[in-house]
Amino acid sequence: QPPPEVHTFWQWLCDQGVVSADSPVRPATVTEGLGLVAKRDISENEVVLEVPKKFWINPDTVAASKIGNVCRELKPIISVSLFLIREKKREDSPWRLYLDILPESTDSTVFWSEEELVELQGTQLLGTTIDVKEYIRNEFLKLEEQILLPHKELFPCPITFDDFLWGFGMVRSRAFSRGGQNLVVVPLADLINHSQKITTEGYAEIKGTGPFSRNLLFSLWSSVAVKAGEQVFIQYDLDKSNAKLALDYGFIESKSDRNAYTLTLEIPESDPFFEDKLDIAESIGLSETAYFDIILGRPLPPMMLPYLRLVALGGPDAFLFDFSFRSTILGQLDSPISRANEELICQMVRDSCKSTLSGYHTTIEEDERLLEGGNPDPRLRIAVGVRAGEKRVLQQIDGIFKERELKLNELEYYQDQRPQQHYTSLRIETRA
Ligand code: SAM
Repeated sequence: QPPPEVHTFWQWLCDQGVVSADSPVRPATVTEGLGLVAKRDISENEVVLEVPKKFWINPDTVAASKIGNVCRELKPIISVSLFLIREKKREDSPWRLYLDILPESTDSTVFWSEEELVELQGTQLLGTTIDVKEYIRNEFLKLEEQILLPHKELFPCPITFDDFLWGFGMVRSRAFSRGGQNLVVVPLADLINHSQKITTEGYAEIKGTGPFSRNLLFSLWSSVAVKAGEQVFIQYDLDKSNAKLALDYGFIESKSDRNAYTLTLEIPESDPFFEDKLDIAESIGLSETAYFDIILGRPLPPMMLPYLRLVALGGPDAFLFDFSFRSTILGQLDSPISRANEELICQMVRDSCKSTLSGYHTTIEEDERLLEGGNPDPRLRIAVGVRAGEKRVLQQIDGIFKERELKLNELEYYQDQRPQQHYTSLRIETRA
């Protein structure tokens, strides 16, 4: 049985004609909080609900409201967050029945306490969470200075950082957006939960109805057949890593390719060939800093080895920076240049993996034991899942370069194929 607020919300939508008695779904309490449950069998690709534009909350809604004039310059997520908070604080908000069903928070890492964040020690997710919270704090300070304080008459109830964090967290976890654009919160449709079992992303469209298609409807469908009494799910995003899912929504998936690690590589400014290397990096579409998303179980991104070769280039291979070799170098980066260069790459990557791995406070085995114990705390499960995933990716990268190190003698090097001899005397040939 859903809580009474949900019943009231549903009744309101019925009275407003948004849903009718024969709606194929109804809101219900499920393990993910609230969700949408099938009232009867639903077939594949069947529309489960349609919400008219006047019930959407997007930057147009804000623009048409009392705070529209002062919010015109705000980013969509900021203006919609502020709108939700202000409405939540107004006794007589027309959105009251919707706001009453919104949760106080989610398990997104932006809502975690310091103590909970300790479980993320050493992870990239901890870094991103800190950055995002800092971003939210800065946006809040700007709002205070430019809007909240100068327009006190529009905001009779004080708005705190925690209020803003709530609003931001709600919009980030509930809004639909296409390619990061057209951000819209659609009450009722936003009760739909995510399932990793759904493997296609198409689940909604905006349809025009009425004369000249002027009335817009947000139409949501189920991409799979659902039996009466079961929950209807969608796939929120196939491309987000577990860290991103944890940050945006507060859950992770068990699929291995959701585990990712972003390697940051750079050409140090102190490099004697900095300018040359930067030039060459730019000609292959990269820059002095390059980010490579490494995914568990997937091959390395194709540009990673060429970029590493470039970063490590020097010593006996430095002649490649000579004007006459400039054009050759580009073609060469796709395959091994010299043994010294390839060996240096392996060392650089392996050292960096090892040092990163030593920054986590648990081992993968310890993480696995914690998860096997069926620990019910969702935030701890997210922390353990993400940190174990990051470590697995780092081990995978280390493994790839360890194997490469063993094959250094078998690789074919550009240096060895060159007719000129005088550089070869400089080659480092320490291994048989
Ligand atoms: N369950 C939400 C509620 O009670 O209002 C409705 C869905 S809302 C768009 C997105 C939020 O639902 C997420 O931030 C997360 O809190 C929860 N959620 C959705 N799918 C989930 C899943 N597969 N596992 C855990 N939580 C989920």
